[in-house]
Amino acid sequence: MTIQETLIENVAVWRGRGEHVETAMAIRIENGRIAAIAPTGTLSAGPQATVVDGAGATAIPGLCDIHVHLATNSDYGRIVDNATYRALVPGTEKLLHGVRNGLRALKAGVTTLRVMGHRESGDVELAAMIERGLIPGPRLLVAPWVISMTGGRGDLFYPAAWPRQYLDTADGIEECRKVVRLQRKLGAGFIKVTASAGVLSADDKVHWPNYTVEELKVIVSEAHDYDLKVAAHAHSTEGIKRALLAGVDTLEHGTNLDDECIAMMVEQGTWLVPTLAITDSLLRRGAASGARAEGLAKLEIARANQSRSILKAIAAGVKIAMGTDSSGNLCRFGEHARELELYVELGMTPAKALETATSAAAEALDLAGEIGTLDAGKCADIVLVNGNPLQDIYLLQREGGLRRVYRNGVDVTDPWPAVDL
Ligand SMILES: [Zn+2]
Repeated sequence: MTIQETLIENVAVWRGRGEHVETAMAIRIENGRIAAIAPTGTLSAGPQATVVDGAGATAIPGLCDIHVHLATNSDYGRIVDNATYRALVPGTEKLLHGVRNGLRALKAGVTTLRVMGHRESGDVELAAMIERGLIPGPRLLVAPWVISMTGGRGDLFYPAAWPRQYLDTADGIEECRKVVRLQRKLGAGFIKVTASAGVLSADDKVHWPNYTVEELKVIVSEAHDYDLKVAAHAHSTEGIKRALLAGVDTLEHGTNLDDECIAMMVEQGTWLVPTLAITDSLLRRGAASGARAEGLAKLEIARANQSRSILKAIAAGVKIAMGTDSSGNLCRFGEHARELELYVELGMTPAKALETATSAAAEALDLAGEIGTLDAGKCADIVLVNGNPLQDIYLLQREGGLRRVYRNGVDVTDPWPAVDL
């Protein structure tokens, strides 16, 4: 078997943890994995190896965004209202939007996405096609669709008169049990449930909880039986508490955390996935993002509460993993590092912010043995940043800020050159 080998020389290395950057290092990649990291000049490579000069660059682990909606409108010249898009755009078109969004993420150094899937959008199938090498893309961990009660946040994203499919909504213990088993059969990589109302969904009040603790508990225990993690969407304090009482693994948004919620998260080791980027994106772009006026008004309040919650969570030592809620024209794929900028603007060091998208995210995904740090044996998901992102987090999004992106050792810097990404 031929060995696919790449040697990156003379590069600074940030391994994915801590404040320290090693200078003048070399990284040898073999068959998609990191074979060795050592001072430059001490590693040799075979005659077929691709040798890359890393002078002036810092190698960091490929980034993880653990809250995205992949198969969402990627055509910014044709802004579509969210509910209209979900109900009226055919699944085949949604799949192609998912492909393009994935390529945008990859180009921005995001090599792993946890996808809050939408039914009939091809998210699960796309994950498999990417793994088989049919098409380039980030590693995808997919929940086939959000588990929502009737009249809950996931349900209200669709027009009321739109026909529902079997277990699009699940109510009561038995349906909740069944929908987890069904999703597992369909290829779920994790389970997503809505434990509170939403900000953007129509006719929804943010303070409403969704589901009883008993319903949430059965979802969690069924998922855990399959070794699947549970992500709970929750804005309201009551919804957050119910999700925590049920033992969910990651809390998405966590907009209104009180002291009791924070104490429970610390005690239980629950991850917070803040998703500040979508709020920032919507408020920056306003109606041009495709969001409704009612949703934008609720967002102003949500932003203030979100900032307060995350600051309290950081101070208390809650574990944080990076998620943007990237979603078509609402929060664009490729702009993931905005989330990290927002953490830094709230007072985190750039290294701590980067940990949320690397070592911490990998731990939250149960993939710490494979990704999240630069160590021998790990997947060669590596981003070469022009300069040092620990000194300037804005480099990640700056024009020309990224020099090279590798996923499983393959150079995906320009993953689909003929397509306007
Ligand atoms: Zn979301």
